[in-house]
Amino acid sequence: MNGVRSEKSVGGPSLQLFICTHASCGATFTRQWRLNQHETVHTGAVRKRVHEIISQTFKLLESIFTILNVLVNSARASAQSLTVVAVSQESPT
Ligand SMILES: [Zn+2]
Repeated sequence: MNGVRSEKSVGGPSLQLFICTHASCGATFTRQWRLNQHETVHTGAVRKRVHEIISQTFKLLESIFTILNVLVNSARASAQSLTVVAVSQESPT
């Protein structure tokens, strides 16, 4: 067991193709390591896209928190005014 895959090769070397699964690439290789090496071509672009998505997510979260903050503050303000009304109705004049 040394990690080398043994493939059934009846009558000569196997012609297994390793195909790049990256969108609209479709490059093919006869060796797994060649494909792995090739895929680093795409990782730069993928990393950039991931960075974009993360920064968009943070912007979205920021606006959600802003809205939540406004809602919590207005809920708190109306709760306080309700308490004032309730207290003033309870107290005898
Ligand atoms: Zn590719």
